[in-house]
Amino acid sequence: MDNFHIFTVSLRLPKNLKPLIELAYNLRFAWNPEIIALFRRIDRHLWEETYHNPVLLLSQLSGARIQELSKDNSFLDYLNRVYENFKNYIESPHFSPFFKKETDFLVAYFSAEFGLTDCLPMYSGGLGVLAGDHLKSASDLNIPMVGIGLLYQHGYFRQRLTSNGEQKEVYPENDFYHMPLHLEKDKNGNPILISVDFKDQKAYAQIWRVDIGRVKLYLLDTNIPQNPPDIQNTTFRLYDAHREIRLRQEILLGIGGVRVLHTFGISPTIYHMNEGHSAFAGLERIRVLREKTDISFDAAHLAVMASNVFTSHTSVPAGIDIFDPQLIEAYFCNYTPSLGISIPVLLGLGRKNPADHNEPFCMNILAMKLSGHINAVSKLHQQVSQKLWHILWPKISEEDVPIKYVTNGIHVPSWVSHDMSELYNRYLGPHWFEDPDSERVWARVLEIPDEEIWSVCERRRARLVAFCRERLRNQFRRGGVSQTEIGRITDILDPEALTLVWARRMTNYKRPTLIFRDPERLARILNNDKHPVQIIVAGKAHPADKPAKALIKQIIELARQKEFRRRLVFIEDYDLEVARYFVQGADVWLNTPLKPNEACGTSGMKAIANGVLHCSTEDGWWAEAYNPEVGWLIGFGDEYDNPEYQANVESNSFYNLLEHEIIPLFYDRGPNGLPHGWIKKLKISMYSLCPRFNAHRMLEEYTTDFYIPALHYWQNLVQENMKGAKALSQWKTKIMTNWEKVSIISIEPVDSIEIPMGEELKITALIHLGEISPEEVKVEIYYGQLSISGELRKRKTIPMKPVLQERKGVYRFEGSFRCQDTGRFGYKIKITPYHPYLVPSYYILGFLVIWG
Ligand SMILES: *Cc1c(COP(=O)(O)O)cnc(C)c1O
Repeated sequence: MDNFHIFTVSLRLPKNLKPLIELAYNLRFAWNPEIIALFRRIDRHLWEETYHNPVLLLSQLSGARIQELSKDNSFLDYLNRVYENFKNYIESPHFSPFFKKETDFLVAYFSAEFGLTDCLPMYSGGLGVLAGDHLKSASDLNIPMVGIGLLYQHGYFRQRLTSNGEQKEVYPENDFYHMPLHLEKDKNGNPILISVDFKDQKAYAQIWRVDIGRVKLYLLDTNIPQNPPDIQNTTFRLYDAHREIRLRQEILLGIGGVRVLHTFGISPTIYHMNEGHSAFAGLERIRVLREKTDISFDAAHLAVMASNVFTSHTSVPAGIDIFDPQLIEAYFCNYTPSLGISIPVLLGLGRKNPADHNEPFCMNILAMKLSGHINAVSKLHQQVSQKLWHILWPKISEEDVPIKYVTNGIHVPSWVSHDMSELYNRYLGPHWFEDPDSERVWARVLEIPDEEIWSVCERRRARLVAFCRERLRNQFRRGGVSQTEIGRITDILDPEALTLVWARRMTNYKRPTLIFRDPERLARILNNDKHPVQIIVAGKAHPADKPAKALIKQIIELARQKEFRRRLVFIEDYDLEVARYFVQGADVWLNTPLKPNEACGTSGMKAIANGVLHCSTEDGWWAEAYNPEVGWLIGFGDEYDNPEYQANVESNSFYNLLEHEIIPLFYDRGPNGLPHGWIKKLKISMYSLCPRFNAHRMLEEYTTDFYIPALHYWQNLVQENMKGAKALSQWKTKIMTNWEKVSIISIEPVDSIEIPMGEELKITALIHLGEISPEEVKVEIYYGQLSISGELRKRKTIPMKPVLQERKGVYRFEGSFRCQDTGRFGYKIKITPYHPYLVPSYYILGFLVIWG
């Protein structure tokens, strides 16, 4: 039985329906309502049944239905119009004029997961959804980009809940041949393969392409007959818990990913690693560069760094990917010779302290040591990351740790309900979605009449309630709940009650049970006859996370008690579709993370774009977005030593907000039944937050602050057969050998001077540089007001200039500033090496600092 001769059957449609195939195979449908309407028109039941999969839908159409469609003129007219709009989208120039085309600009975007559309379950949560939104915005803005990822045979698990609240994981088998995926084949029709080495075995992968508007995403798949079974399973599951499989996945993603690009002759100039999983891409780039140009590891490392961008999403050390050094050695001992380094040097690239042989190998450290451009994903997360990684740049001050931030954003057209999007078309103008980061466009939200925006909110809430009841019916049936209880589902939830939603990954720091700490008080609030309130909860726990599973059970047990039965539900299997219903139909979006663990969070942004108000602790993006006009703050933004105490303070704060602010505002209805105060608040929240917290703004920041500088650094180094990189490497050697002799001989003035406010203070330093020239260093004055504890407040940096060579190797530097305040001040002088081609985040610079 085992050896079938394999063939594939492709879709065939009459000529006048052919455009459907192209439309089905491009994920543009995921954020274009007219393409969705087109497929729904073909067969709305099938559209739902196939989980919004147009490829599967077309393959299941009966011959009769196809004949019927091909003769239906009104359908054909609509199809042609939609197809023409699609073509215009694909071929139009970029919407946003901010981006002047650079020659050679091409970003390769690596991510272990992508959340793109319902029928492609290749994501687990926020990281994947963000990566998907990143590519969609790149397509909209026409930023040249290609994505790299893995295609998982079983994806992430589907969550099933038993009647007593236990989570069961089901791994569906993905049928790639019925998904919007193209298998890349050669001229003879054979799948194109790339290979990587797993110890002394070759692992092959075939390549699937996803078209996302105008961006291509390549996904690697090891489940092919060329591999033995224990290699086939490499891409079975997202975030496989088995460490060796995880390492194999990351080798495939990083090293295999670079090989895919080469196989297709694609030459990106900028490599963006979304999290540390793909950090091996940096090593493979070094290997390729050395193979092509015969330069040293060091020169290649400097060149590759110049154009690697790394985004870190973690705040908690436990969330960071680490491997046993022996495992790395076993997998890389045949690889390091091609890099021109030894295993200890490689291991050092993944360690805080390269000399510590017991330290595990950390993918995020590897990514940082290979990337010249590093960022966190919110302003608060920047501070957290600078603190967490200060150890890599030990001699500079924490606030100078070269980790910048780009706050995450959402791809608005993917998340806004159809109803709201029509309202936007009418009042913001039909092109609003081309410009979702324009304040001018969003200011027009104020012009939407209250009754119209409220009618959308009411309609979406009713849809949400209907959706939850339908889901509960299936969930109860499968979970073994009694027939009588299933029959009573229609009295669960109320389409008119104030609806709060808490939905996210179930994990301890997000504190899913914070709002349930005082069940009696909560029950009183929810069951108020005149002003009822209801809560909808959803979220998956990682299969290995037992405490998180216990939290799910706790919530479900509460929901089964009679005082909560109608007002609290847990909806299983939180995914993109569930998220859409939730963010489009809630009144209040809840978020309760323990500060400062949430790197950013994005679901609240999705809610706000739909007119939902956000209520959260001060963490992630809310720390930079919140003000009392736009939403609510749970707690006071403080961090306490005792997490139990903090949870009590914050849950009380939540109940108080509900009782004294949220419920009264929601139920304060004018004569026409409209809550004008509420509507005013949601409009302010929309027009002040939407222009900032969206993926177009995010992409524009990445482009101007990261991609374009990275491209320029790269171009400086690679021109004329790597001349710049070789020179830079030589310069580095010179600096490293001579740095020891650099010293500050004297500084003027020293302590105990007094100057009148506003008068210029001139500082002079005599510096011994030896063989190093004054242009090869950066000398700066650090000054600011001194706190009682001896730290600088509101620190300023002033450059110093060489004014005189005193004698051989000794220079006089000068700089000056004026103090506009009075008080006790302090200053220091800092010397670091400087080269215009060297990225300032190079970790070695964190050790070569002289303070005086
Ligand atoms: C948006 C989204 C997330 C991430 O949201 P957070 O606010 O970071 O929790 C996770 N899962 C799904 C399905 C989403 O749509």
